[in-house]
Amino acid sequence: MDKKPVLERRNLGNTGLKLSCIGFGASPLGNVFGVVSPEDALAAVRRAIALGVNFFDTSPYYGATLSEKVLGNCLHDLGVPRDEIIVSTKCGRYADGFDFSAERVTRSIDESLGRLRLDYVDILHCHDIEFGSLDQIVNETIPALQKIKAEGKARFIGITGLPLEVFTYVLDRVPMGSVDVILSYCHYGINDSTLLDLIPYLKSIGVGMISASPLAMGLLTENGPPDWHPASPELKSACSAAAIHCKEKGKNVSKIALQYSLMNKDISAVLVGMTSAGQVEDNVGSALELSNVGIDEEILQEVEAILEPVKNQTWPSGIQRN
Ligand code: NAD
Repeated sequence: MDKKPVLERRNLGNTGLKLSCIGFGASPLGNVFGVVSPEDALAAVRRAIALGVNFFDTSPYYGATLSEKVLGNCLHDLGVPRDEIIVSTKCGRYADGFDFSAERVTRSIDESLGRLRLDYVDILHCHDIEFGSLDQIVNETIPALQKIKAEGKARFIGITGLPLEVFTYVLDRVPMGSVDVILSYCHYGINDSTLLDLIPYLKSIGVGMISASPLAMGLLTENGPPDWHPASPELKSACSAAAIHCKEKGKNVSKIALQYSLMNKDISAVLVGMTSAGQVEDNVGSALELSNVGIDEEILQEVEAILEPVKNQTWPSGIQRN
């Protein structure tokens, strides 16, 4: 009898956590990409769990705390056993600005746990550290997060940001083992794979890697990005051309983009923002197809050729919503 295909799980650095290779990015549950009803959110989370997704990522920033509340309600209503899911949230970035002080992040985790209806999170990230003082992150925020970890409110500590240099700046200066994981976004996809340069360093110090936004925050979708997307007009139009090309050939640009991001097994999980059970099915289906059949090399090469003129083009980190 054929075995039912299962979504791959990958080790996260030295944490001992095993993340599903597709993680559920919950920023859309904060209505960041358009309104998502509580019913659609519940259906998406239910389907994700049924299909083997065990990793959920949120932040108090997403939808001004709405994402945390909606995710917390979904996990609670579904009665998912706590030890079967891995939940990450963040601190330091809020709807009304940034505050990486020890006092604020210490208060923040309690507020997040209340909204998530949890006793602890698995990973607590400092959210978008390039907006704070990196020396404050090293000398004040990370030590405060160590106390939160010691109190059992977070099992592991992470840092997130857009410019890749911020990761090395902090990791070079904190005690080994005080940052367990980095979350990078928009730097490991078909249009931008610059995270590759950092992987040997991260592996050498046992820091786990999570890569978010394989669809480049909506650029690599048939519907295109939201209005606030910070990419240049040139990058937007190249991604749109890639999406149209795929569609004309009966293919889907989001599928090929997600599969590309999943191919690098040094990256423990690829976080995709999902708004419906249908999107969950499509994305898990893409991952299973990748494991079983491999990627469609022909369409991948065609998309890479279309995106070549904008390869590794990024944008200033100040104007993003995730
Ligand atoms: P993404 O690249 O995952 O794109 C999300 C968009 O693509 C949404 O509009 C979604 O509805 C759509 N989509 C998803 N699957 C699709 C499919 N199969 N077909 C067509 N459209 C599809 O971008 P994202 O949501 O910004 O990133 C994923 C998650 O990563 C976030 O939700 C968040 O949890 C995390 N993240 C963290 C940071 C940070 O910490 N600084 C930054 C970016 C993202």
